[in-house]
Amino acid sequence: MSEHTITVAGVAVDTRHWIGGERVAGGETFTDVSPIDGATLGEIARGTAADAAAAVAAAKAAFPAWAATSYEERARVLHAVADGVEKRLEELAVVETADNGALLRSHRRGVMPRVAHNFRFFADRLLELGHEDFDTRGHTNHVSWDPAGPCVLITPWNAPLMLATWKVAPALAAGNTVVLKPAEWSPLTASLLADIAAEAGLPAGVLNVVQGYGSEIGDALTSNPDVRRVSFTGSVPTARRIAASAAPNLTPLSLELGGKSPLLVFGDADLDLAVELAVEQYDNAGQVCLAATRLLVEEGVAEEFTRRFTDQASRLVQGDPRDEATDIGPNIHPAQLEKIDGFVRRALDAGARAVVGGHRGEGQYYAPTLLTDVAQDSEIVQEEVFGPVLTLQTFSGEDEAVRLADDTRFGLAATVVTGDPGRAARVSSRLVAGTVWVNCFFVRDLRAPFGGSRHSGVGREGGDWSFDFFCDVKNTVTAPKGWKHHG
Ligand code: NAD
Repeated sequence: MSEHTITVAGVAVDTRHWIGGERVAGGETFTDVSPIDGATLGEIARGTAADAAAAVAAAKAAFPAWAATSYEERARVLHAVADGVEKRLEELAVVETADNGALLRSHRRGVMPRVAHNFRFFADRLLELGHEDFDTRGHTNHVSWDPAGPCVLITPWNAPLMLATWKVAPALAAGNTVVLKPAEWSPLTASLLADIAAEAGLPAGVLNVVQGYGSEIGDALTSNPDVRRVSFTGSVPTARRIAASAAPNLTPLSLELGGKSPLLVFGDADLDLAVELAVEQYDNAGQVCLAATRLLVEEGVAEEFTRRFTDQASRLVQGDPRDEATDIGPNIHPAQLEKIDGFVRRALDAGARAVVGGHRGEGQYYAPTLLTDVAQDSEIVQEEVFGPVLTLQTFSGEDEAVRLADDTRFGLAATVVTGDPGRAARVSSRLVAGTVWVNCFFVRDLRAPFGGSRHSGVGREGGDWSFDFFCDVKNTVTAPKGWKHHG
């Protein structure tokens, strides 16, 4: 074990960058802290502009050979990466929980299997990519999906490896090389992924990982003219900075951003289901981009809904995310907790009523909170909190429901709970959202698109939408044999 290796929950993790198939220490470090108990996990390489440039250079050098690799070979290596993820699933799960505080049982049973599936899915999808041919007066138009080049992938801390591999897998499948910059509050599983990819036989330089603060190395990555794609998941203010930085090179961007999604409960809904779906919004301590944080409930059932919701929310177990019985873990960072509390205090000062919670818990935990008596134009209804804080408003009829639901600058997702299929279809078609769930939440086929409208994002990921972004689509027109050019 090198002096740069730390042990987290019994797992050895290298704290250095991974550039060109080698570990690179760089100079300074930053301290990674567990949100569970504030314990120091280790000192992580603090990337500089020079590290960012070296990683892009490594990705550029590795690009021609990887781009020329056959689809079958790329798919084989991606399946080998998936095998490695499955083999080390428990290690990935415990390290991710120590690093970002999300539930261990979710990491074990849902998140990490999905990480492996991301690689398998895009490996298989690659082999199914259609290379269409069209005929124009004997000229063959051959449409191909060409690799774009080095890609910079920048990811947040709320589902670190899951969101990273959602980009890494299609980017690599498409024949691109990658520089991954994980969030500084959850840097560890990206480093494990580098090990897994190397063991799986991914050639040096095809996947590079640079650690550090986005504010310090982000620009160097996103403004580099050798970068052909930037795919970002994170907040709106950072997206604006990235867009400005990528603009001079016209680098294509994919942006998956925040939300303030509504959950609409109609009077004809199965109220038990509605309450269950609403309480689910506290998952991951509310740190979920898709979370339906605005509960919109039809007047006639609002009182009963609130009673049942309060009852169920009061039974949630908040505590150590490593315990099987825990429903809600800690929030990621003291700064995030402060931000959440600020939103709630300002809402209470403005006249909101806390029906559930409304205050901090012990340590780095925030009590699950439900606020009523909130105005549509208030900060708490309009801005993303990214914590376990929901608001409840009432409506009367479909028109008002849709008006309230659509009245924010976001458009990531919406959930409709109704017993009337006709109403479900009418309301869904009017909502501005990348995903609408009817009588369910969070389910998605990997072949389907994912993304946000308005300030929730630019572009779609998932299925062939990912290939569309990560490829340069080319049309090669070939004249028939013996054809003479007359014009
Ligand atoms: P953030 O924007 O602060 O950071 C995200 C990433 O960007 C981190 O890796 C960070 O280091 C990096 N970064 C920061 N400044 C940068 C710069 N100038 N240039 C380049 N990179 C820079 O977001 P966060 O707090 O980590 O994540 C929470 C946000 O992410 C929420 O708004 C949430 O809704 C959103 N999110 C969206 C989705 C989605 O798929 N739509 C999924 C998860 C999270």
